Amino acid sequence: MCAHVFLIVCDGMGDRPIEELDGKTPVEFANTPWLDKLSEVGINGIMHTLGTPGIVPGSDTAHLALFGYDPHIYYSGRGAFEALGVGLEVKEGDVALRGNFATVDENLNVLDRRAGRYVPEGDQLAAVVNGLKLPEAPDVEVIAKHATQHRCAVILRGPGLSHKVTDTDPHETNAKVKIAKPLDDSEEAQKTANIINSLSGKSHELLKDHPLNKQRQERGDLPGNIIILRGAGQVPNVKSLTQLYGIKSAVISTNALYRGVALSIGMEHLPVSETKGDYIVLAKKALERFDNYDLFFIHVKDTDNASHDGNAEEKVKVIERIDEMISYLFPKVESKEAYICVTADHTTSVKAKNHVGDDVPVVIAGPEVRSDSVKSFSERACALGGLNRIRGIDIMPILMSYLEKTPMFGS
Ligand code: ZN
Ligand code: ZN
Repeated sequence: MCAHVFLIVCDGMGDRPIEELDGKTPVEFANTPWLDKLSEVGINGIMHTLGTPGIVPGSDTAHLALFGYDPHIYYSGRGAFEALGVGLEVKEGDVALRGNFATVDENLNVLDRRAGRYVPEGDQLAAVVNGLKLPEAPDVEVIAKHATQHRCAVILRGPGLSHKVTDTDPHETNAKVKIAKPLDDSEEAQKTANIINSLSGKSHELLKDHPLNKQRQERGDLPGNIIILRGAGQVPNVKSLTQLYGIKSAVISTNALYRGVALSIGMEHLPVSETKGDYIVLAKKALERFDNYDLFFIHVKDTDNASHDGNAEEKVKVIERIDEMISYLFPKVESKEAYICVTADHTTSVKAKNHVGDDVPVVIAGPEVRSDSVKSFSERACALGGLNRIRGIDIMPILMSYLEKTPMFGS
C-alpha cells in the first residue's frame, strides 16, 4: 500500500508569550487534545522556514521553502502566485502583478488604495484593460482578472519582459501613484516599466468615466478609477514535485496566494467553498480524494488573520477549530499508511500584529515515525523534540523519505 502525507500549514500560527493568556502563546493556551496527541505519537521540532532564524518570512517565500524550493533562488515576486491562484495561466516569460482598484483624484493622488474594499463590479472593471495592447509595446498583451473585493491580477505577456521593476502602488493614501522604475540596467526592465506606467495611465483614462464607476459614485461608493500595481513576479522555473519525487499532490486552500504557490510547483487544486471557520471541510475534501494523491497540502489562513488583528482570543479559537479538524482526520487515517505534519509558515505576533522572525513548531505523526518525549504541541514543547531545529526546505525531503520517494545519494 502506498503511503500518503497531509501537510497542514496553519498560517502565522506561531506566536510569543502573551500576558492576557497567562504568559502562554496562543498554541499553548488553546485546548488542543488532538494536536497534543500528534505530538505524543509523533516526532517534533522547531523550524525556521527561511532557514535563517530572525529573518522575517513572508507567506509566499515561506511556502516555497515548505514545498522544498529555496526562495532565495526561486522567488521573484508575489504577483505570479496571485495570478495563478485566481485561475489565470502564467507562462514562462510572463510578468504578473497584483493590482488594486483604487480611488485617485485628478492629480493621481491616492484617496483610497482599495476603492472602499467592496468592488462587486470588479469583473467588468478588469475587462476594460484585459486584452489591451499599449503603443509602447504592441507585442505585449495585458491580461487582467478580478480576484476578490478590490483585488485583481494583471499579467504582461510578450517578449523581453522582466520582473525587476518597482510598484506603482504607493502603499499609502494621500500619496501620488508611483512611476514604475527598472531595478537593473536591462532593456527588459526598462521596457516592462514603460508598459506598466502606460497601463497605469490608461487604466485611469478608461475607468474614470466608466458607467459602473458613475453608478458607484451615485450610490455614495468610491470609484475604482485606476489600477495600482505591485509585486511584479514570474513563475519559478523549477521541476515540479512530480518530476522530483514521482508523486501526485493537491492543494486545498480558499486563498489565492497559497493555491498559486502550490500550482507553480505542480500541485493540483481541489476546490472547496469558504470554510466559515469549519476546517473539517478541508480534511473532508482530502479524504474524498485520498486514493488519488500522495500529498495533500491543507492551508488554514485564519490564524494569521487573527494575529494581524491583534486578537489573541480569536487566535486561540481558530487553533481549537484546527484541533477539531485533526480530531476528524486523525482517527480516519490512523490505521492507514498516512503521515500528518502540522506546522506554520511563520510566527505572526498578536502583539506586534505582524510577522516576526521566531521559529515555528512542527510535528510529524505516522506509522514509522521515531516518536520522542514531547507530549504536547506548542512552540516551546516541540523545541525539545527529536527533529530538533530544521529549515523550511528540509520538511519536504523528510516527508518524502517517509513515502520512500527520496532518491539515495551514493550507493
Ligand atoms: Zn503566512
Ligand atoms: Zn500575515
